[in-house]
Amino acid sequence: MNSPRSDSSLSCGLASSADQPPSFFSRPFTEAEEEPPSTGATARRKKLFPLVSDLDWNNWKWQFRNRITSIEELSHYLPLSAKDQSRLKLVTTKYPLAVTPYYLSLIDPLDPEDPIRKQSIPSFQEVALAGMGFEDPLDEARESVVPGLVHRYPDRVLMVLTDICAMLCRHCTRKREWRHGGWVRDEAQVEAMLGYIRAHKEVRDVVISGGDPLTLSTRRLEQVISALRAIAHVEIIRLGTRFPVVLPQRVDQELCDMLSRYGPIWVNTHFNHAREVTPEAMQSCDRLLRAGVPVNNQSVLLKGINDSVAVMKALCQALLRAKVRPYYLYQCDEVQGTEHLRTSVETGIKILEGLRGHTSGLGVPTFVVDLPHGGGKVSLQPEYVVSQTEEELVLRNYQGYLYRYRNPRGVTLPKPKAKPNGTTARVEPFRLSRGDGNEDRAIIRP
Ligand SMILES: *Cc1c(COP(=O)(O)O)cnc(C)c1O
Repeated sequence: MNSPRSDSSLSCGLASSADQPPSFFSRPFTEAEEEPPSTGATARRKKLFPLVSDLDWNNWKWQFRNRITSIEELSHYLPLSAKDQSRLKLVTTKYPLAVTPYYLSLIDPLDPEDPIRKQSIPSFQEVALAGMGFEDPLDEARESVVPGLVHRYPDRVLMVLTDICAMLCRHCTRKREWRHGGWVRDEAQVEAMLGYIRAHKEVRDVVISGGDPLTLSTRRLEQVISALRAIAHVEIIRLGTRFPVVLPQRVDQELCDMLSRYGPIWVNTHFNHAREVTPEAMQSCDRLLRAGVPVNNQSVLLKGINDSVAVMKALCQALLRAKVRPYYLYQCDEVQGTEHLRTSVETGIKILEGLRGHTSGLGVPTFVVDLPHGGGKVSLQPEYVVSQTEEELVLRNYQGYLYRYRNPRGVTLPKPKAKPNGTTARVEPFRLSRGDGNEDRAIIRP
């Protein structure tokens, strides 16, 4: 494979080590990393897109223009029976399809359970179960202070500039927007959002999400970012984008140079499976980091995609190798058309339990549920506090062993809350439920 930088002025992130400013973020890419061993994906690219030059392939505009958006087209790349084709055509009248050639080439066409496929290719269950859930589970439309701006938390706002994305994720929280076609907020609408932020001095953090803000041209994005940067009380700007995952070629030097002029800017991206952490994706994260833009990851817990300790651990470890910090693991919102991808909250808690202590703490995300009706995010944790008094706590470690932990003197615990029926709540007696033999070995150490 030719490395993404080999032949194109559009992909110039690591042009030569001499051009690179010294980086304190990490060592530079080595040759071995720039020329990854041929993976299934690169072989597949050659097979599926034999006539596409490296110049085109690595040009994000080519990737964007050539997104696969019909079942007809898709059937050239993935084997689909006639019945599947007609059923999926029906699905796309309600929930359209869009996938980049790059992301499509990561799919193993012979595996119907492929985690990349399940995130990008429609499923009949989207319409079969469409009655379940809400259109707008987070009540964003009702809660917008001006169109496109949600001010739910005291010091930060969410700004949605467009509903266009490089790929339409099947588990999208804003699936409701898909039927409105692609829209981008016009100048007057953006000005209204900026006006609100200017008038609200408490807003110190602006999250630009979407739709994907990197679908805007770098010039247009710069207009918005520079206007935000001109507001004295806006301390940080965050971009929520899936481009590093689905179209990493977008993260070119032009974009990174622009972002580096308006820092502190943080990027939150959205990897859900270790198979997405390709050399191209890693390189796009590396470019952002070198531009002084920290990259964090927000994954969504998805049934049959990443709902096991093994898959999630592999993902989080791959992210750390890419120098990307796992930030949130989201419970999948109750969005219409995503019911088949949702799993229980308990599954998420068990996954966290399988990560904490078992792998680098840096690789353990916070598990959050974004409450319906605009209740906001709550973080959920495995229960490690077995019991608690003013003198001491009994805590469970990652192996299931119990330890006493002494409080400093003079601690007063809040009074137990009265339950509705007049009794007081109490801590349930602790039971080990791991079923792995540790029950017998559980000890309390003084
Ligand atoms: C998630 C979210 C934010 C950012 O939340 P953090 O917990 O600070 O990452 C801000 N506004 C809205 C409306 C959100 O949904």
